[in-house]
Amino acid sequence: MFYDHDADLSLIQGRHVAVLGYGSQGHAHALSLRDSGVDVRVGLQPGSKSREKAESDGLRVLTPAEACEEADLVMVLIPDHLQRQVYAEAIAPSLVEGDALFFAHGLNIRYGLIQPPADVDVVMVAPKGPGHLVRRQFNEGRGVPALVAVEQDASGNALALGLSYAKGIGATRAGVLKTTFKEETETDLFGEQAVLCGGVSELIKAGFDTLVEAGYQPEAAYFECLHEMKLIVDLMYEGGISKMYWSVSDTAEFGGYTRGPRLINDQTRAEMKKILGEIQDGTFTRELVDEFDAGQPNFAKRREAEQAEQIEQVGAKLRPLMSWLSDSED
Ligand code: NAD
Ligand code: MG
Ligand code: MG
Ligand code: MG
Ligand code: MG
Repeated sequence: MFYDHDADLSLIQGRHVAVLGYGSQGHAHALSLRDSGVDVRVGLQPGSKSREKAESDGLRVLTPAEACEEADLVMVLIPDHLQRQVYAEAIAPSLVEGDALFFAHGLNIRYGLIQPPADVDVVMVAPKGPGHLVRRQFNEGRGVPALVAVEQDASGNALALGLSYAKGIGATRAGVLKTTFKEETETDLFGEQAVLCGGVSELIKAGFDTLVEAGYQPEAAYFECLHEMKLIVDLMYEGGISKMYWSVSDTAEFGGYTRGPRLINDQTRAEMKKILGEIQDGTFTRELVDEFDAGQPNFAKRREAEQAEQIEQVGAKLRPLMSWLSDSED
């Protein structure tokens, strides 16, 4: 792990940085770099909704092409499926020898969607937390841990530059772990598909549906299957699965040990391996690129259907009644 004393802030302070995008990560990086004494400009489309926000936060906003033209270090913080096009139109034309191209996720490099010239540094600084937390922690004198990776070391100093950037956004206060574009991309995709996003939400919905179909009140099913998830995960976050099992009743612990493996069984594990295989051999990314290139026909429909599900309707009615929730939200 790398910490503050392993990173030299003066490296990033000596660069002209363009942050492309001003969403979750973009705003956190641009503002924290600026507060760390770095020369930052933000690159956004002329009609972008983020423009006003970046300007009112006191940042210089240019078009992506103008920002890249001025910069010798470009951090790409726009949605992954748009990066290929923005690279071709706005980034590539002004990339010159000695420049650095930075990412917060490795997908476009790992799958060859973007192929930078050999004479630029290609580096990843990927905070392991949502952008709003990255910024809040920075302001409080703390940081969110991050991964750093070097795909191309044209300057011979790419890792030091990555660590310097990480220091500029507060990440070295918490710790920075070295990885590769390949490892970060494949583990990130697997985690979000099999466990964090896909796995957890399908588990919650299946539990909710089972109770509601059996005639129990949807409100009770919501509390049991969705609301309590956070309380359980918080315990795991604090002290691992053991702390969670220590905190719940022996009845819950016995039920979990005996029933859990019936759900996550050999068939589930085999399917997880298949999902990982599709990530490793590029099948998933091809599917992703095709879907977005075609204008998101299935993605948009699926998002709409998900939002219309009963568990979402029930939750929307219940959450405003839980006044204590608003305090804990960002
Ligand atoms: P986001 O969706 O929150 O924000 C995207 C930003 O890009 C917006 O400001 C949007 O206006 C801008 N944008 C869209 N099209 C553009 C264009 N053509 N030119 C310039 N700007 C454009 O994105 P995000 O979630 O911050 O993700 C950015 C990157 O960070 C991705 O690579 C993502 O994988 C990575 N990442 C995100 C998180 C996270 O917590 N959200 C965590 C780690 C890494
Ligand atoms: Mg992730
Ligand atoms: Mg991801
Ligand atoms: Mg219970
Ligand atoms: Mg117990």
